[in-house]
Amino acid sequence: MKPYLRDRIPETLAELPDATAYEAGYLVTKNAGWRSSRPVIHQETCRGCLKCYLYCPEGVIFQDGGKVKINYDFCKGCGICRKICRFGAIEMEEEK
Ligand code: SF4
Ligand code: SF4
Repeated sequence: MKPYLRDRIPETLAELPDATAYEAGYLVTKNAGWRSSRPVIHQETCRGCLKCYLYCPEGVIFQDGGKVKINYDFCKGCGICRKICRFGAIEMEEEK
C-alpha cells in the first residue's frame, strides 16, 4: 500500500506542507532491503503531532484510521523520525 498522506490528514491539518521529500507514491523502487533497523511507533505514546511526517526524508509516514503509521516498503531506517519525536514515541528495532 502506498500512502497518500494529503488525502488522509484531517482538514484542520490540511495546510501542513508536504514532507521534505514527497508522498511515497512517487518512489518507484522498494528500498527496505538494506535497512538494518526499523522505526516502530508506540501508538499509546504518540500524540499525533505529525512532526515525524514533516521530517521523514522519504515521505513514508502517513495517517491511517487516526493513527500515524510507516510504510516499511520505502522506509530506509535512517532514524530521523525517532530523533525528531519529542514524545519518545518512536523506537528503532533491529531488523531480523
Ligand atoms: S513525532 Fe512522535 S508524537 Fe508526533 S506523530 Fe510522530 S510519532 Fe507521534
Ligand atoms: S527511519 Fe527515516 S525513512 Fe524511515 S520513517 Fe523514519 S525518517 Fe522516514
